[in-house]
Amino acid sequence: MPRRRPGALRAVQHGPRAGEFPPPERIHGLSARTSLAVHRVERLSADYYVHPGATDRALRRYRGFLEPPGRRPLYPQDAECSCRGCSFDDVRHARDVLDLVLEQLPARPRAELARRVAALDTVYLKRTLPDPFADRRHWSADLWWHRRLAGGREGG
Ligand SMILES: [Zn+2]
Repeated sequence: MPRRRPGALRAVQHGPRAGEFPPPERIHGLSARTSLAVHRVERLSADYYVHPGATDRALRRYRGFLEPPGRRPLYPQDAECSCRGCSFDDVRHARDVLDLVLEQLPARPRAELARRVAALDTVYLKRTLPDPFADRRHWSADLWWHRRLAGGREGG
């Protein structure tokens, strides 16, 4: 089942609503200038999943997923709900959000965020395993971070 059924998305809202977010702060690991550019993209984006605070949450989620020490493989897990809050249970969604934001950023802030994401991507590639059946399994197999073995418990 695709994770993003447009009709179902707005029906459930477990995450914070627009307007309930605190004023812009510096985003985790980014310069003030880039944080501002990101906040602007988040405010203006028409994408349901790109909302104020989404980039900060995505970065923290991505980093947190990769944090367990050791060399055991890590396995992304499906989110049980496709609302913008619960979707972050799936680390691949965090990477999706970062990709969406990167697409919409101007060149300089995009380069800074891209460096942060690339550093995490390197670890993600090391800590997850390729899924040989990705083409059959995922609707989004064109995105490389979805072509990794998933399931079981996060953290292996
Ligand atoms: Zn939910």
